[in-house]
Amino acid sequence: MRFTEFNFTPEVMEGIEASNYENATPVQEQVIPPIMAGKDVIASAQTGTGKTAAFLLPVMNRLLSNHVDGQVGALIIVPTRELAIQISQHIEGLSYFTHLSSIAIYGGNDAQNFVAEKKALQMGADIIVCTPGRMIAHLNMGYVNMNGLQFLVLDEADRMLDMGFQDDINKIIKTLPAKRQNLLFSATMPTKIRQLARAILHEPVEINIAISKPPEKIVQKAFIVYEPQKMPLLKKLLRETPYKNALVFCSRKQTVKEVRRELVRAGFNIEEIHSDLEQAQRESVLGAFASGRIPLLVATDILSRGIDIDTIDLVVNYDIPGDGEDYVHRIGRTARAEADGVAYTLVSEKEQNKFHQIEQLLEKVVDKGAVPAELGAVPEYNPRARHHHGGNRDNRGGNPKKKFFKRGPGRTSR
Ligand code: AMP
Repeated sequence: MRFTEFNFTPEVMEGIEASNYENATPVQEQVIPPIMAGKDVIASAQTGTGKTAAFLLPVMNRLLSNHVDGQVGALIIVPTRELAIQISQHIEGLSYFTHLSSIAIYGGNDAQNFVAEKKALQMGADIIVCTPGRMIAHLNMGYVNMNGLQFLVLDEADRMLDMGFQDDINKIIKTLPAKRQNLLFSATMPTKIRQLARAILHEPVEINIAISKPPEKIVQKAFIVYEPQKMPLLKKLLRETPYKNALVFCSRKQTVKEVRRELVRAGFNIEEIHSDLEQAQRESVLGAFASGRIPLLVATDILSRGIDIDTIDLVVNYDIPGDGEDYVHRIGRTARAEADGVAYTLVSEKEQNKFHQIEQLLEKVVDKGAVPAELGAVPEYNPRARHHHGGNRDNRGGNPKKKFFKRGPGRTSR
């Protein structure tokens, strides 16, 4: 489903485009319409499914038409400081073309931040992301005004309860107006979450995104490299790994074409599949691949779902797919039926964070393969340090240093 189908305002659409999101993920497809329709929602969705944008986009969209000066529009409560920072960065990216203001409020930082948070709370902010403890500290001081609140979002609710935040959450909720829209996200749905949902949500729409896990028998390996090392490594892997049929995935058709050109030049018998090919051409290429006449195929994600060729014993992700679900679908092309399979993923420096999110989604640390010494030094796998997020503003002439906390329409830098 394309984002154009949701009827978002042009400013929200710009944020989506700048973030390079093309299609909505399954959770977005299911969660966005009921939120836009004003319904409470309870969704089981893990990190890596695109759940953050699933609630941020419709919330931002509404606040753009319902902005009230000096009021807090949406309160997002999360279990950890890391998640608060991550979500606030997401907001930064997605709201870049809007006048919405936001602030992250979390513990563990210095007194100066507390003062800045206090000021923001007193002036109002469209979106607040907070950890429970820190928010309580501000509430206790008496200057927080939540009278205009339109949205309450509880993210990773199961983790919040595991961490003992139930009382804090209840205390915060007591300060909120009764008429508001509530959204609850949780990776798991144990009884205590259902009880919390019953207490907080009003006739919620329930959404269940069951993330399939790849079969255990697929041997997964990731290679941490610099981008220019990918092609030489791919050639080496394809020369040294025995396979009957191998499928190389790239996210963009341009990359598919380049990879094929390079591999043809290097002597591989390879074909390509992407959306530029007519249906008849695709079928003919797939036929040649299935019969073994062409053992190697490079493709975009149009092939990541559905194709069932049980001789595929090697999948290589030349880059990281858009979301965890696509990763599972891509590598699930191998080890069909009784067969075994190997899935290699080439992870460049700027893809480390995305790959880490996929590992979280799979609840599995994927083995890191040794890169042959002849390819030179490789980067360390250190996804948190390389954390990157949301919009690619730097490429669009925006101000990458723009402060996180933004004020009303007249004061933004664009
Ligand atoms: P989340 O599950 O919210 O932690 O998101 C996981 C990752 O997916 C984040 O890096 C998002 O920026 C990215 N993402 C979210 N929605 C989309 C989309 N529709 N297309 C591509 N990437 C997305």
